[in-house]
Amino acid sequence: MLEISTQKQPDLLDLPIEKIKGIGSKTAQILARLELKSVVDLLEHYPYRYEDYSRNKKIRELQTNESVTIKAKVTNIQVRRAMRNKRITITEAVLTDDTGNILAVWFNQPYLKNILFKGQEYYFYGTTLLRNRLQLQSPTFENISDNTVGAGKIMPIYSLPDGIPAKKFRTIILQLLGSLPEKLDFLPLDLAAGLKLVSRREALKQIHFPDSFKKLAQARHRLAFDELLIMQLKILHRRETLKKSNAPKIIFLQNKIKKFVEDLPFKLTLSQKRAAWEIIQDLETNAPMNRLLQGDVGSGKTVVSAIAIASCAWNKQQVAFLAPTEILVQQHFATLKKLLEPEKIVIALLTGGSSGKEKKEIYEGLTKGKINCVVGTHAILNEKISFKNLGLVIVDEQHRFGVSQRSILRNPQVRPAKNSGLTWNPHFLSMTATPIPRTLALTLYGDLAISSITEMPPGRPEIKTEVVLPDNRQKAYGLISKEILLGRQVFVICPLLEDSDVLEVKSATAEQQRLAKEVFPSFSIGLMHGKMTASEKERTMKTFKDGRHHILVSTSVIEVGIDVPNATVMLIEGADRFGLAQLHQFRGRVGRGEHASYCLVIPSNNTVPERLKILVKHQDGFRLAELDLKLRGMGEITGTKQSGFLDLKIADPSDLNLVKLARQTAEKIIAPGLNHFPRLKQLMDKQEMTHAE
Ligand code: ADP
Ligand code: MG
Repeated sequence: MLEISTQKQPDLLDLPIEKIKGIGSKTAQILARLELKSVVDLLEHYPYRYEDYSRNKKIRELQTNESVTIKAKVTNIQVRRAMRNKRITITEAVLTDDTGNILAVWFNQPYLKNILFKGQEYYFYGTTLLRNRLQLQSPTFENISDNTVGAGKIMPIYSLPDGIPAKKFRTIILQLLGSLPEKLDFLPLDLAAGLKLVSRREALKQIHFPDSFKKLAQARHRLAFDELLIMQLKILHRRETLKKSNAPKIIFLQNKIKKFVEDLPFKLTLSQKRAAWEIIQDLETNAPMNRLLQGDVGSGKTVVSAIAIASCAWNKQQVAFLAPTEILVQQHFATLKKLLEPEKIVIALLTGGSSGKEKKEIYEGLTKGKINCVVGTHAILNEKISFKNLGLVIVDEQHRFGVSQRSILRNPQVRPAKNSGLTWNPHFLSMTATPIPRTLALTLYGDLAISSITEMPPGRPEIKTEVVLPDNRQKAYGLISKEILLGRQVFVICPLLEDSDVLEVKSATAEQQRLAKEVFPSFSIGLMHGKMTASEKERTMKTFKDGRHHILVSTSVIEVGIDVPNATVMLIEGADRFGLAQLHQFRGRVGRGEHASYCLVIPSNNTVPERLKILVKHQDGFRLAELDLKLRGMGEITGTKQSGFLDLKIADPSDLNLVKLARQTAEKIIAPGLNHFPRLKQLMDKQEMTHAE
């Protein structure tokens, strides 16, 4: 029998952040936008990288090819154009300390001139390189006066919103770490002892302000384990709950479905048929379906979902269909309407733009059961809708939804079944274009049902993918001109800048202007980025879709499944900074019409990472996911913003040993019942579930 930890949860962790010294209501508001609302949220806002200011060197001691920090004054700074390629700007600064000076060089970051001040002292962190003389290549830097917290140590670098200076955030974290309660672990004591992990308290301290890289590694290991443990507990818990609940039986109406499929304007692929059949079988049982439908962009998931919707409608059960953005909702609605209305299935669109009158009608239709299926964004959840018979919830790209919405998605409506002791749960179908490698899915989910669409409808042209080195950009522009003159359209994706959204927006804006002025003066060029409101983005997207821009320059916000069949070129700048899954998603934005399409990836320098070579070689999302996993297993660094399918902050889902350990531990905990572990149960209730549990 396990030793039961009866220790109550220390209150400090749940304290709202405005109660913390140094956080006013304005700061709290800004942080809340990052979902940072309580002390524990702050503590779990881990640094995304570190700069080693503990290895301080004098300029005279520097050697070639070393990663170092120097403490130096900017004695001169200027911006010039590269000799060979006028489109590249070079920022050069002379850095001086009491032993000498060295040149620091940055490419295409002219704004640095406005943030680095002559006469000021900074820490510079970067790699030395021998050109004519030794120089420091694209160093990051830190104002000396901002660096008093943890100065001379391994410095945490956080992703922070505008208006929260790094120094302030570090000070707050340091203060919180100082007042952590002695006992913070939620693991049952005997289990914790057997696992040889550092304490959670120590891990939190070390992940923010590591004494050494070794301690940092131990801390990450512990915190990663905790994340995986919670995740496994939720999976097991969910399985138990589902076992005890009941869903409406959707009878398989063979003739109707057969006719529906025959009437489609195309023939279903084999994998579509198989997926539909798997879903139909799940729906026919009393146990709630919990299935993930995965398939590449354009593989035809929507049609499969339409079969499920039709089945439900014929069984007098309603369906709620959720997608993460208005554009996607509109697209799905249009497709589903075309497919389902001939069957006399009533389908409604609910968006933020629906008028009060429309909304009222929809609510009434749902309550009375006149509407069979409602398609909408999470707005559906915020509204107080009551369904007459909600039988199925379908969610597209669930990992795109905000964290707090997901928990509602799990269980949109729970009501007691008529004559059993069971609770009622609708069937649940999640759809994703970010496939999960088989090996990973099995380890992570074990008993999750997955349907995969592994082939594309016939006749889809392959998207020609090519790596273009920065110096050959002109060649890419030549292709773009040619395509535009043929009447086609083009996406240009700007590099990901992890340190700052503001800079990301700036650089996207600069890129749009540069293209408009210097490269394509006669074309219309739109711009889209993360600082625009949802409706601004919506409008820009629509303008582009309607053909009123030739080119759309965008940051990675474009990623979600937008359908512009006339777009034939996807050009990705700074491609080395994106993960494979995300690159593949970008590529899926083109090749959606009848025209031959191209994906051109431009790395930020002349080295071509393995990832890009793989992208060029493979078109199949499943294959790419497997290869990505392998690469990551080998420690290739993929961008931290890389679109993932799991809600893990630091745990690496491909660390199969740790996943297994977490699974075993979770099983030991769940066996006597979670109620024996109040602290753990509380934690799980608070955290959200990932889509595929
Ligand atoms: P996904 O949601 O998986 O990205 P969609 O369901 O939007 O893909 O389908 C992409 C396009 O392919 C749609 O225009 C759809 O009508 C079409 N399509 C789907 N299945 C087939 C098929 N078996 N044969 C031909 N076209 C298909
Ligand atoms: Mg789709």
